[in-house]
Amino acid sequence: MAISVLPPTWRQIQKNNFTKWAELANFLELNDEQTAKILKKCRFPLNLPYRLATKIEKSTLNDPILKQFLPLTAEELENTSFTNDPVGEKKALCSPKLLHKYHGRVLLVTTSSCAMHCRYCFRRHFDYEVERKVFTPELDKIRNDSTVKEVILSGGDPLSLSNDALRSLISQIGDIPHVTKLRFHTRFPIGIPERIDSEFVDIIANSRLKVWFVIHSNHPRELGQDLFNSLNQLQKEGVVILNQSVLLAGVNDDIETLRQLCETLVDEGIVPYYLHQLDRVAGASHFEVPVEEGKKLLEQLKRLLPGYAVPRYVKEIAGEPYKVEV
Ligand code: SF4
Repeated sequence: MAISVLPPTWRQIQKNNFTKWAELANFLELNDEQTAKILKKCRFPLNLPYRLATKIEKSTLNDPILKQFLPLTAEELENTSFTNDPVGEKKALCSPKLLHKYHGRVLLVTTSSCAMHCRYCFRRHFDYEVERKVFTPELDKIRNDSTVKEVILSGGDPLSLSNDALRSLISQIGDIPHVTKLRFHTRFPIGIPERIDSEFVDIIANSRLKVWFVIHSNHPRELGQDLFNSLNQLQKEGVVILNQSVLLAGVNDDIETLRQLCETLVDEGIVPYYLHQLDRVAGASHFEVPVEEGKKLLEQLKRLLPGYAVPRYVKEIAGEPYKVEV
């Protein structure tokens, strides 16, 4: 009798993430000189999905994917203009899990968990209220403010939540008549495309809300057919998928990488939406690209690609009513 073997679930796959620097160093065949540069203990620890680890070149630290995830001693460089709350989120909090920065939309901090830990993350020092798993006060605030038309699920990464938790949350948001749009800010599928499972697709397909997905990819090597197949299930349900990137030194601050990233995305019906100037978060100063260089890259991109394939180069400034075009 044939025995059918079920494919692993996304939760099982996530258990294979690299979280110990020594195991990753061994997997990548790093030498002693290279491992000496790794920051061994930190509050925001290593967390790298296996899928991305397999895309990293071995025996070097000079890899655009590795640089985004490997804690390095360079993070300890003192730079007083890089702070714990670079975009002023504390002020924008109207409850511990709800940010109201811009007119018409609110951002719900659904979880502190992510599929991966990006070293340049502007929320790497965010004081998450982790113990509370329900969103009653936040949903009440949304219910009582009829100007809110869109709810953004963020975190952490909202796809870290179980399907049951998302189903319940999305249904409660869908019950608020003035909310018409639901947006996901997620990097999860880049690390674990299997997260877009059939149960999740059904949840999205059955919501009355218009769903937008904003994924986050910085380098064309993060992409691949496995990712596109998984996102395509959502596109078939009418979900619009956008991508946001962060301009990062040594990762994507060259024209060929940006061109390839944008072109590959649009070929899959994914709109390159934003290229963010790095938020000046403590520990990430070694990733900063000067604005003048970023502008030159954008100018070159505009010459190479159609307008819809060129992201808007933006910067978030605390207190501004929208992201400012650089
Ligand atoms: S996945 Fe997003 S929220 Fe999580 S660490 Fe990376 S940038 Fe930050």
